[in-house]
Amino acid sequence: MMRLGEFLGELKTFLKEDQIILDREGMAHFSYDATERQFMPQVVVLPNNTEEVSKIMRCAWKYEVPVTPQGGRTGLSGGGLPVKGGTVLSLLRFKRIIEIDEKNMIAVVEPGVISKDLQEALKAHNLFFPPDPSSTVESTIGGNVAENAGYTRAVKYGVTRDYVRGLEAVLPDGEIIHPGGKNAKNVAGYDLVSLLTGSEGTLAVITKIIFKLLPRPAIRRTIIVYLNNLPRAADIVLRVFQAGIVPCAIELLDNVTINAVADYINTPLRRDAEALVLIEVDGHLEKTVNAEAREIIPLCESVHGVVEVKLALDEEEANRFWTIRREALPALKALGKDHFEADVVVPHYELPFLVKFIGELEHGDAIKIATFGHAGDGNLHVTILYRRRNFTELDEAYRLLETVYRRTIEMGGSLTGEHGVGITVKDYLPLQIEETEMALMKRIKTAFDPKGILNPGKIFVD
Ligand SMILES: Cc1cc2nc3c(=O)[nH]c(=O)nc-3n(C[C@H](O)[C@H](O)[C@H](O)COP(=O)(O)OP(=O)(O)OC[C@H]3O[C@@H](n4cnc5c(N)ncnc54)[C@H](O)[C@@H]3O)c2cc1C
Repeated sequence: MMRLGEFLGELKTFLKEDQIILDREGMAHFSYDATERQFMPQVVVLPNNTEEVSKIMRCAWKYEVPVTPQGGRTGLSGGGLPVKGGTVLSLLRFKRIIEIDEKNMIAVVEPGVISKDLQEALKAHNLFFPPDPSSTVESTIGGNVAENAGYTRAVKYGVTRDYVRGLEAVLPDGEIIHPGGKNAKNVAGYDLVSLLTGSEGTLAVITKIIFKLLPRPAIRRTIIVYLNNLPRAADIVLRVFQAGIVPCAIELLDNVTINAVADYINTPLRRDAEALVLIEVDGHLEKTVNAEAREIIPLCESVHGVVEVKLALDEEEANRFWTIRREALPALKALGKDHFEADVVVPHYELPFLVKFIGELEHGDAIKIATFGHAGDGNLHVTILYRRRNFTELDEAYRLLETVYRRTIEMGGSLTGEHGVGITVKDYLPLQIEETEMALMKRIKTAFDPKGILNPGKIFVD
C-alpha cells in the first residue's frame, strides 16, 4: 500500500525545493508524451546525480510508491506516463557528456543528454554515433536506450542496442549496478546491458551509458524516387539488396504522407505520386559511394511504376530530402485527427505483401491510413487517422489496427520495431509472444522489481 505522505516527507530531507514539483500546473508538463495521452503524477522529482536517484528509489521501495522514469517525453507507446500515479522521475538534469574517448572510440554520457546535442558534440571529434531517431531535437539518450530506438540508418548500422557497451543503473530497491564497460567483447555472465536496453524503464533507472562510436563516414549520396504504385516501392528494397548494395537508409512515404508533408513544410512535392522512396549510401571512399549511387539509379528506373529518380546535387539538397522524411509524423499529426500508429516490422522480403495488404484494407471515407517508415528494415509506421469522439470511427480504427497487427504476425513479423510496448501495444502482445515466453518475461520483471514499483502498468496486461 502506497504511503505517499511519508515518501514526500523523506524526499524533502535530501532534495532541494526546486527538485520536487507538487503543483498541478508544474506536474501537468510531465503528464503526457507524444501519444497525446495524459496521466497526472502525484509528484515529480528531478534528481541531479546517481546518488539522489538511488536515495529516491530507496524511499519509493520503502513506501511502495510507483516510480515512472522519464526522458524527453517523445515516446510513442506511453512508456513514460505515470499510469499508476506515484512519482515521475525525470532524468532531464542528467545533461553531461562525461567523456569522448577518441582513442577507444567511446562516449560516456548521462541519460538526459538530448540526442542532437551528442551528435553535434561528436562532429568536432570526427566521430559518429549512428543511432539518431527522427525525434533527435527532443528525445534523450536515456529514452533512446530504454526504448532501444531505431532510426533511418539502422538498415546498415543496426539499432541503439548495437552501440551500448556499458551502463550504470539504479535498481528498484536503490542498489546501483555497472554492467558492461568499454570493452568491445564481454561474455562474462548474462548480458544485463542488452537486457536493460529496450526494457522501457521497467527494470532499472539508467543513469550513465557507455557507447561505442564509429569513424564519421566522409561521403553520402541521397536519391529520391517517386512511384505511381505503392507496393512496387517495396520492390526497390529487394532489388537494391539483391544487387549486393547495403544502403544506410531506405525510407518510404505513401501518398497521404507525401501530401501531409507538402502542406506542413510548404514545399513542392509530387502530390500525385503514390509513393516516395529515399535511398542513401555512405562511406569513406568517394569512388565507392558514387559507384553505388550510380548503380542504384538505373536499378530504380527499371522498377515498374517509377516516375522520377533524382540524385541530390549537394548536401543542401540531401538535407532538404531528409526534411521530408523527418517531418512525416509531425505533418500527419498536424492534420488534426486522432491517430493510432502501428509500428509493425516484417522480414524485408514480406514488405511488398504487407504494403499491398494495407493499401487494400477497406475503410470508409472518414478514416485515412497513412504509411511511412523504414522500408529497408521492413519497419512501417501505419498511421490510422480517425476521430475519437465518433464511436463508429473509433471502433473502425481499432478493427483496422488489430487487422494490421494480426497480418503482421501471420507474416512472421513483430508488433513493434522501435517504439516499444508501453501501454499502447500491451493488450496485443499475447498475439506475438507465446505464453511460456511471457511468463519468463514476467519472472525477469519480478526478479528486478519484486514489489512492482518501477514503471508499473507497462508491457504486461495487469
Ligand atoms: C516526431 C517523432 C519522431 C520519432 N522518431 C523516432 C525514430 O526515428 N525512431 C524511434 O525509435 N523512435 C522515434 N520516436 C519515438 C521516441 O522519440 C523514442 O522512443 C525515444 O527514444 C524516446 O526518448 P525520450 O527521451 O523522449 O523518452 P520518454 O518518452 O520520456 O520515455 C520513453 C521510455 O523510456 C523510459 N526511460 C526514459 N529515460 C529513462 C532512463 N534514464 N532510465 C530508464 N528508463 C528511461 C521511460 O520510462 C519510457 O518507458 C519518435 C517520436 C516522435 C514524436
